[in-house]
Amino acid sequence: MKALVMGGGMAGLATAINLLDLGVEVELIEADDMFGGRASSWLDSDGDMIDNALHVFFPYYVNLINFFRKMGIHENIIWKDPEFYYMQPGGREAVLRFANLPAPLHAAAAYASLVKAYKGLPKWKMLCTAAAMGMGVSRYSTKQLDELDDITFGMWAMRMAPKGAFKPMEPGINGLTFTPSYMISAKVMLNWFKKVSASAETSRVGFANGGLGEIWVDNCLDYIRSKGGAFELGKSVTAVNIENGKVKGVTVNGSEERTADLYVSAISPYALRRVLPDECFKLEYFRDLWHFQYAPSMSLQVWFDRKLTDVDVTFFSTDCIFNTYADLSNVLPDIFKGGSMLEMVLSPADHIQGLPDDVIFDIAIEQIREHFPLARDAEVRKWKVVRERQGVYRALPGMERHRPYQRSPYDNLYLSGDYTKTHVSSGGMEAAIWTANHCAELIAADKLDREMSLNEEFRYDRGLMPFIKPAMRFGPPLAALALAATLVRKLIKRG
Ligand SMILES: Cc1cc2nc3c(=O)[nH]c(=O)nc-3n(C[C@H](O)[C@H](O)[C@H](O)COP(=O)(O)OP(=O)(O)OC[C@H]3O[C@@H](n4cnc5c(N)ncnc54)[C@H](O)[C@@H]3O)c2cc1C
Repeated sequence: MKALVMGGGMAGLATAINLLDLGVEVELIEADDMFGGRASSWLDSDGDMIDNALHVFFPYYVNLINFFRKMGIHENIIWKDPEFYYMQPGGREAVLRFANLPAPLHAAAAYASLVKAYKGLPKWKMLCTAAAMGMGVSRYSTKQLDELDDITFGMWAMRMAPKGAFKPMEPGINGLTFTPSYMISAKVMLNWFKKVSASAETSRVGFANGGLGEIWVDNCLDYIRSKGGAFELGKSVTAVNIENGKVKGVTVNGSEERTADLYVSAISPYALRRVLPDECFKLEYFRDLWHFQYAPSMSLQVWFDRKLTDVDVTFFSTDCIFNTYADLSNVLPDIFKGGSMLEMVLSPADHIQGLPDDVIFDIAIEQIREHFPLARDAEVRKWKVVRERQGVYRALPGMERHRPYQRSPYDNLYLSGDYTKTHVSSGGMEAAIWTANHCAELIAADKLDREMSLNEEFRYDRGLMPFIKPAMRFGPPLAALALAATLVRKLIKRG
């Protein structure tokens, strides 16, 4: 049995590997001039590493970590301490540092340390945020969380706390989803906060120990080669040809025909809907692809001639063109030597994507100098705005129900990719691997009559959380009863 995998990003490469492991013959084609898709990196003409934006890994990426382990590259993720630095004008730092305490004490202590030094919001509002977030991550069942896909995070925030109280969350929301909080699904954000803030251990962030693509792509290609799989660059699928409810073949680069027994699309929803024939859109499954809107992002790398900071974890800043960033000279000191190299996510980028690179840089450097006093005397050695391979789909309310399942209505067409259906997240690298695994599980069951389970659920130490709900439910009535009993006893004594 032969499978043609279309798209050589993380989902496409992982699907190809899973299918080869099942004994399926695999041919993988990629339109671009390199593999890795959005999780890639390359060297510029000076030999400097350009990442396709800062990518971070989280401990809840259990399936990605398993996949990296299988490829022998799990040590290429370096895990940092569970802390996030807020950089504020004048160089004032505020830190959200998760202590090694049982949940939710770890989060309460972290938030208390942030409240002390964070200047952008009155303290009472920050306390409201803490209370709302505490309820948000502890109160909802999976079903209740699913229902929150009908409203935006902004609407949820307005119900839970005073206006503007969620400002400290904005950089994380923008950096992760490239979408403002007044547009992003409440479910998507609360699901993420719940996983990341579950314990001190799960609040850690991992970075690629090298260029983003450098750490994983070649190992995957070696694996595919070693199993007899074939792969090619510069091969863009330009039409998917359907006959009698099946894929008959695909057209590549406008003229070449490729055929196989099975076809897996690991390309974006925007690319897939362009190459499908009209008849597909009679089916709701394929019409759903038109619900996907693009959330643009950009990335900026700035090399300085000296160190601006020694912080080696993620930074957040509010009210800037950038929101989430890191100094890679601290994160990866063996690779980025000399002065600081800031790698910054610029998002949401709807309003800046039309600006010329030098205007974007001018805005960014002014804000960097405002936030890092040492940058005022530093020389910028070089900078680069990255626009290629950017963007994710916009996780608007209601989008969860439009994500296509990996098994399509056509007997020999399957889908993988971070936008396809999964409960793990609204996108991102874990979603790419989860969907690649599930795609292979379905193919094994449908075509090879084999049951297998590749995906694993994320489990974490819940600390004191199981006691919180009963304490909240029974605590106040029990306290009232105890008070009443004391009063009655006193009255009886007096009487
Ligand atoms: C700026 C930025 C920052 C990010 N940060 C993070 C992060 O911190 N953590 C995280 O987990 N995720 C992050 N992501 C998301 C992450 O990059 C993606 O979730 C992941 O790479 C998706 O992999 P994929 O294989 O599903 O899709 P892609 O990587 O998009 O792969 C699709 C592939 O299909 C190819 N293709 C398209 N059309 C065709 C065609 N017609 N024929 C053949 N091939 C085609 C494309 O060239 C591409 O290689 C970020 C993304 C961006 C853009």
